[in-house]
Amino acid sequence: MAEKLTLPPPSANQTYVTISALDGGSLTLPESLFITDADPSKRTTVPSLCFLIRHTSPSTSKTITLVFDLGLKRDFTKYTASQQHHIAQRQPTSTSPDVADSLRKGGIQPEDIDVVVLSHVHWDHIGTPSDFPNSKFVVGSGTLNLLANGGGYLYPKELFNHDELPFDRTYELPPVDPGAKTAARKQTEHKWETLPGFGLDVVDYFGDGSVFIADSPGHLFGHVNLLARVGEGRWVYLGGDCCHDVRILKGEKGIALYSDGCGGSRSVHVDTEAARGTIGAIGKLMREVEGVEVVVAHDGGWREENRGRFLPGTL
Ligand SMILES: [Zn+2]
Repeated sequence: MAEKLTLPPPSANQTYVTISALDGGSLTLPESLFITDADPSKRTTVPSLCFLIRHTSPSTSKTITLVFDLGLKRDFTKYTASQQHHIAQRQPTSTSPDVADSLRKGGIQPEDIDVVVLSHVHWDHIGTPSDFPNSKFVVGSGTLNLLANGGGYLYPKELFNHDELPFDRTYELPPVDPGAKTAARKQTEHKWETLPGFGLDVVDYFGDGSVFIADSPGHLFGHVNLLARVGEGRWVYLGGDCCHDVRILKGEKGIALYSDGCGGSRSVHVDTEAARGTIGAIGKLMREVEGVEVVVAHDGGWREENRGRFLPGTL
């Protein structure tokens, strides 16, 4: 029998974080690319959700602000020609408010954000990094190689803006496989660990059990998720693009496969099998641990039902 999943109990002086949702623009997805048994004509306009996480140290009262994902760029001319061609198939889009506007509306200046964590560097998550001139950027291992060189024929480098992250302030998490090569100039000091019964490796970001970044392979090279302790027995799991439809996490739908244009089939994930493993691990988390709320980036239903939890509201 598989090991039961348990999350670490709170420490004596446990720090909890607060999370606020942020609008980061919207885009339109054809259902048939994402779920099995889709209506071939159905297209849904979905948000690209971003999140503000505030961590206050109980001993120093110092608050560190972290933003998870930056949504869409408000200026589409800053995308490459290949990205713009792709974005033409994702209309309608909106970028008002973008994540910087969403922060300002909630009384927070993007210039004051300490850390930006990107779940991955697809166009609808990378946003406008130059709005965050003082932030440290943290990305999953393999991200900088992907930006510089692309990732195979389905992910040519033209689909990425290789020079848009501030490289002097950008850190990769270390590779999960210590033998893996990385193009990162800077790496964080974290060590990967496992949580009992959880199939994804995690780093304890602040070292106090309040925020874990999870290696969540499959969607794109360097894809990461974030598990945050928001109260006693209350956790939030930010799933990025582990899937684009929560019915997949619940086992009600499967991952759609479609032609790769070269005689084979593909999905929206760079490694469909790995994506299945990640989805399975998150599904187990939802089933076995009480008090965990899972939110994926493009969940329009969640956005509609949770307007009061956008900044200045909290999850
Ligand atoms: Zn993506």
